[in-house]
Order: sequence, then structure tokens, then C-alpha cells
Amino acid sequence: MKMMINSIQKSVIRIHTLSRASVCRGLSSVSGPKVCVVGGGPAGFYTAQQLLKARQDAVVDIYERLPVPFGLVRFGVAPDHPEVKNVINTFTQTAHHDRCSFHGNVNVGKDVSIEELRQAYHAVVLSYGAEGNRSMGILGENLPGVFSAKDFVGWYNGIPANKELCPDLSCETAVILGQGNVALDVARIILSPLDMLKKTDITQHALEALATSRISRVLIIGRRGPLQIACTIKELREMVNLPNTRADMLLSDFEDIGETLKDLPRPRKRLTELLIKALNERNDKAEKSWSFRFCRSPVEVLAASDGKRAAGIRLAVNKLEGSGESVRAVPTDKLEDVNCGIIISSIGYKSIPIDPAVPFDHRRAVVPNDTGRVQDVSGLYCSGWVKRGPTGVIATTMNDSFDTARVLLQDMDTGKLDLSIKKPGAQAIAALLQTRGVRTVSFTQWEKINAEEERRGKPHGKPREKLLDVEDMLKIAWS
Ligand code: FAD
Repeated sequence: MKMMINSIQKSVIRIHTLSRASVCRGLSSVSGPKVCVVGGGPAGFYTAQQLLKARQDAVVDIYERLPVPFGLVRFGVAPDHPEVKNVINTFTQTAHHDRCSFHGNVNVGKDVSIEELRQAYHAVVLSYGAEGNRSMGILGENLPGVFSAKDFVGWYNGIPANKELCPDLSCETAVILGQGNVALDVARIILSPLDMLKKTDITQHALEALATSRISRVLIIGRRGPLQIACTIKELREMVNLPNTRADMLLSDFEDIGETLKDLPRPRKRLTELLIKALNERNDKAEKSWSFRFCRSPVEVLAASDGKRAAGIRLAVNKLEGSGESVRAVPTDKLEDVNCGIIISSIGYKSIPIDPAVPFDHRRAVVPNDTGRVQDVSGLYCSGWVKRGPTGVIATTMNDSFDTARVLLQDMDTGKLDLSIKKPGAQAIAALLQTRGVRTVSFTQWEKINAEEERRGKPHGKPREKLLDVEDMLKIAWS
């Protein structure tokens, strides 16, 4: 009997040794293509997912600047949209794939160059999003009290660089410039009853500031008319249904719309009908209000009498030329001043170059590419916002990343990418990073951060309390 147990134990140990050996031998000896992805947001994960699925021999490494993955799903998507964040489950499955590795805390372009990545991998995919801001280019835009939506969103969503933002919410009126979904996210977060936000993953400092906010009126300003607002119906419906608020729009803005309504394409028609419904359903008991102001462009931020902060905004009144979606806003000589204590400019995100060796189209603020193949650089690809500009929802980014993966796979199949040369992949980059004193965060180490955030959120009934400090994240990851 004892002999039998011994032989079973031995064979179990052998199986263990074998599988450990095959794992150790595993990734570095897989002789297939080695691909690296720069950026751990939706574009990066969707590109990796598609490559891993299509080729059983491909190894994919994701390099991410922050110690935490998921890009704007974590740092952009509004805290009261938890259902949108479910894509994280799919990304986590990809990260757990035995041919995929996540390397957080690596700032590509600074810690390691694109050329070094190109030497180490058969292909490099740029998926680093759009981390810059479009500026308004008007006088006074740097005054205290003026924020970009990117920073304001980063403040309530826990971007480490925005934790000190401290917006002063003690004024009555907030002005948001831009009428897209991000503008509506910001307006909704400012006006939402606290109880609706308390159970979300909004940062504690934002929650505390919003609890003392005195903002009761939000004006959402757009260059063009009601038929050109850039938000989607879901976000508009959320505004219309926001408790204790009323839509406070100008009847005159809608005077000519009745005529054109029937000829509008269906999505635009539904959006406009909802706007008109909001216009007609006035909840006079509501303590707070929001409103779209149309045909207005910012001209100057007006300073308070001491010159130390923003106290208003000067707007040019526009007239519209043309028709439909291609209508142009042309400023008239009429100006209008609006008093307000906070101005949030939501006129778009913008990609920035991360490495001088990569071509960059400064006018369009994207990496110039042909369906994901970066122009003039073989073996270099791009996906997501850095490829097509900062528009579209996660589903758009997914399709676009699948397209990039498809052309990359095509290039492998047709021999455009030379797979006969053996590439060292992550091993070579790890060695380089070590000599530069850069320590990476693996996906397992991110999961420690994740667990700690969830633990901190629990007593408050929140899904997580985000860590706001990169140093704290690293301490927990490496503990
Ligand atoms: P990102 O998500 O920005 O990911 C890029 C990643 O690259 C980041 O993790 C970044 O840290 C990393 N990176 C940057 N520079 C470097 C570098 N030098 N080295 C290494 N890594 C780097 N879509 C929806 O479907 N629903 C929503 O409700 C929704 N809400 C949104 C709210 C806001 C405020 C914003 C801005 C967008 C929202 N979107 C929403 C759109 C969605 O977030 C984008 O479509 C998507 O995130 C774009 O993916 P990406 O991977 O191209 O960019």
C-alpha cells in the first residue's frame, strides 16, 4: 500500500515538474510572432485579444504607463455608468491568457523607446489613446476657475495627476463649453443628488466637494444649433430624468424646428424630440437647472475685479450657414456675457506624440496610418483614439482595434512582416528596464491593487475606493 502511495506521489510530482517546465520553457520559446502593444486601454486589450485568438503561436505583451490598466474605462467613463465598465471582465480574461503579459508602470517613449521595442518584437501596436487637451485659444483661459473636462473628469475619477485639482464649487453658475457626451457627463455629475453618487466609485475627495457645492445652474454651450448637438440619446435622457433639476432652455431656439423634424434621420429625430419634450416639461419645483445654449462661441474668459480668477465668459453669438450635420457657425458682431464661477471646456481630447521616431500628424493629432499600418514605418501599427482621433464609444474602439489586428495578421500571413527572424520580446525589454531602474507591475500585482481598492470601498458601500497616488499603488503592488 505504502509503495503504491509513493508511486502515485512520484507520478504527481513528475506531472507537476513537467507542467512547470513547460510553463517556464513556454513563452520565451514559443517560436511564433512576438507583438507588443503600447497602452493598456480598450484599444490595447481589444487588439491583443484578436491577435491571441487568431494565432495560436502569437505572444502579446502590453506596456502601460500607469501601474493600473484599462485607460479611460477606469479614468474616463462616468462613475454612475458601472455597466459600461463591465468590459473590464473581458480585458481581464485577455490579461490572464497564457500568451499575454501586462507590464504596467512603463512610460513608453521615456523608459523605453519605440525603436527598442521594434528591435525586440516583430510588430509594435501604438494604442496609447489621447492624453492631451484641445485648448480654446482665448484670452483668460488659464485663469483659476477654468478647467478642461479632461482634468475635471480625472479629478472625480481618480487620475493621479488630477488629485489636487480642488475646483471651487461655491458659485451658483457653471458653464460647460461643448455639447458632447463628456460635457453631459460633467453636467450630470455636478447636478446629481449625492445619494446617486455615494454608491459609485467616484473619488472620496470629489464626493466631499460635491456635498458642499452651491452650483444650482449649469449652462452647456455649443457653437451650433439644437440639430447639431453631439451627445447621444442615453446621455440626454439621463439629464432630462435627473431628479430635482429642470431643463431651462430658450423656446426661441426651437421655433423653426417643427418643420424640419419629420425629415431628420431617425437618431437625430429622436434626440430632437427628447429635447423638445424637455423644453415643454418644466419641473418648477426643481431647485437646480441645466440648459443648452446654442449658437455661441467663447471669445474671452472674464476675470473677477481682482483679476485673480474667472468670473464670467464672453460669448460671440453665431448665425448658422448651410444645413443638416454640415451646418457652419459664423460669428456675428453680437456678444453676450455670462456670469459664472467655474468654466469647464469640453471641446475634445487630443493625442500627443510620445516618441520622435514615430510619425505624427500634428494637425489631426493622430499617428498617420493606413487602416492601422503606421505610414512609412514597417512593423508599426496603431489602434484606438491615437489612430482615428478621440471620438467614439468603446464599441467603436473595439471594431477599430479588430481592424488593426486584422491587417497585422494579414501582414504576417503574406510575409510583409518577416517572422523568420527570432525576436527576444519581453526578455530584452525587461533587461533594458532593469538597467534603467524601472520596475514593472504585472497583472497579478495590479490585482493586489484592485483587491485593496475594493476593500477600501466596502465600508462605504462603494465598488472601490480608488488609490490616487502612484507611490501607494506601487507599494501595494510590490508588497
Ligand atoms: P485610452 O482608453 O485612453 O487608453 C490608452 C492607454 O494608454 C491608457 O491606459 C494610458 O495610460 C496609456 N498610455 C498613454 N501614454 C502611454 C505611454 N507613453 N506608454 C504606455 N502607455 C501609455 N465610451 C463608452 O462606450 N461609454 C461611456 O460611457 C464612455 N464614457 C467616456 C467618458 C469620457 C470622459 C471619455 C473621455 C470617454 C468615454 N468613452 C465612453 C469613450 C472610451 O473611453 C474610448 O472609446 C476608449 O477609452 C478609447 O480607448 P483607447 O485605448 O484608444 O484610449
